[in-house]
Amino acid sequence: MLYTIEEVMELKIVNHIENRISEVLSNSIAEEMDIEVGDILLSINNKPIEDIIDYLYLIADDYIEIDIKKKNGEIWTLEIDKLPDEDLGIEFEHPIMDCAKDCDNKCVFCFIDQLPTGMRQTLYFKDDDSRLSFLQGNFITLTNISEKSFQRIIDYNISPINISIHTTNPSLRRRMLGNRTAGNILDRLHRLANHRIIMNGQIVLCPSFNDGKELDRTLKELGDVGSNLQSLAIVPIGLTKHRDGLPLMHGYNKKMSIELIDQINKWQQFFLNTRGTRFAFLSDEFYVMAGYQCPEALEYEGFGQIENGVGLIRKFGDEVHYELNLYRDKNMNNPSAKKHHISLVTGTSASEFMNKLVVDIMKVYSNFKIDVHTIHNDFFGRTITVSGLLTGIDTLNQLKNKNLGEALLIPETMLKSGERVFLDDINIDDMQEKLGVPVLPTKIDGRHFLTQVLSVDRSYYA
Ligand code: SF4
Repeated sequence: MLYTIEEVMELKIVNHIENRISEVLSNSIAEEMDIEVGDILLSINNKPIEDIIDYLYLIADDYIEIDIKKKNGEIWTLEIDKLPDEDLGIEFEHPIMDCAKDCDNKCVFCFIDQLPTGMRQTLYFKDDDSRLSFLQGNFITLTNISEKSFQRIIDYNISPINISIHTTNPSLRRRMLGNRTAGNILDRLHRLANHRIIMNGQIVLCPSFNDGKELDRTLKELGDVGSNLQSLAIVPIGLTKHRDGLPLMHGYNKKMSIELIDQINKWQQFFLNTRGTRFAFLSDEFYVMAGYQCPEALEYEGFGQIENGVGLIRKFGDEVHYELNLYRDKNMNNPSAKKHHISLVTGTSASEFMNKLVVDIMKVYSNFKIDVHTIHNDFFGRTITVSGLLTGIDTLNQLKNKNLGEALLIPETMLKSGERVFLDDINIDDMQEKLGVPVLPTKIDGRHFLTQVLSVDRSYYA
């Protein structure tokens, strides 16, 4: 079950959460028991349900009794025989069945604190909720969790969870997170690992804070946590131009990135020798800043940290080349084929990569002319280089009066999840009208990307 941040945010504004059913899957146990959309789940085995974790735990049995309040007010008690891991087939109006927890921190690197005013309210929500980590992979700091909730992670085996570690040095972590309770992270990681909770970690690397020798200390101490802490992503601090009143921070440059890559290469070798995994992975931005190629696919060990931008470029590039190889022998270099001209948008960090990629595409599809438009991030500041943080307004301003051809491809990551709206609420339909060209969102997926490229020529689908 994946939910948008908007759905999660709704939880913040409801005063009383009822476990109202929003969907009953066909051929499910729930459908068979005449459970309907709008019914309310009251209890399982006479136990109230605090949240989605309680729900998942309580239904994991071969016999359960559930109390349902029907839409007409009747209370039904249903006895259900099922396989222990069999789902009931219902979804709830409020996905975590509780208010989402926001964070207690004041991190020196917080991106949300650097947003301009006037954006949609949901973007300012700082979640730090272990339920969301389990359900949809959000990273949590474990600073706002009570002993009871922490123990519940262990008792209910909530796993895997993603943890924002940043440093294992207690005083430095307290300072970086602006939270006096943040210092006990290493104890907590050991405790979770000892109870076989699988974890993935993240470090937002901030020059002069948790880099250099502090990073060495953190990597050594995390290595000692053991194999249940299975991977660590290291991403650079993102600095926008909206930092009034915030501490002075510095970003990464080419020299610092080269030194960091060297440092991490040594640690990867150490972890390979001692644990059989590279364990710590740098996000793509460091390789781009260093002017290096991203490591080979094999070195990402299954791309487990791709949501952190670790290996995205390598994976996407390999997928596109794989697809191109499938078509290479099909004589696409047909001189009489209809000519096409399209354009695509990228952020500055992927610009060089995308320019090389389209050259390779045009070698196979020689009837295509593909222009890459690198959009600079004036909205957040030009130090923000990833495509996923480009706005509609920057795209419109920088593409107006350009000949974009038959279609403009944009990365789907520029859009609000599942919708046709950019970060700044500009709609794709408005963009199409203003630019006079169809705007096609593409997934960061080689096959989907090529499908969108070729979609202007129906003959490829004949
Ligand atoms: S945990 Fe830190 S970085 Fe994350 S939202 Fe809270 S203050 Fe911001």
